[in-house]
Amino acid sequence: MTDEALRLMFEHEVGQDDYRRFLEVGVTDRLRFWQERLISRFTLAHPELSLRAGELEKALRVCEGHGEQLLLESVRGVAAEIDRVVTAETRTLFPKANMSPVGLGSGAAERPIAVWFCPSCRLAHSQWHRSVGDARQPLT
Ligand SMILES: [Zn+2]
Repeated sequence: MTDEALRLMFEHEVGQDDYRRFLEVGVTDRLRFWQERLISRFTLAHPELSLRAGELEKALRVCEGHGEQLLLESVRGVAAEIDRVVTAETRTLFPKANMSPVGLGSGAAERPIAVWFCPSCRLAHSQWHRSVGDARQPLT
């Protein structure tokens, strides 16, 4: 079964609102309680799928705006990279650009942290900043 087919089944099972909210919050190393409940509900409803551990989570790690699979990168020195321009508009245009992850705790800026991002969101982010005259370089 493809990831897309799995996502469609999951969306059908939990409903559009919960599906969208699930993607907006995103799949992180530690899911929220309500996300775990939705996954349990789905796997109990579909034992025939014999899902491997993490298989559904991987399929659900997509951008809610573009439907693209998120990519992982490791970045450093991100604590000071807080994007000052986060609005309802930018959240809609590039919800998973993830240009401004914030590390927590002392020394967070020096520690690499894992960042999931959508390539199309990064492109939209870059184009948007160019259009408003506030170009920022992607984190590398
Ligand atoms: Zn995206």
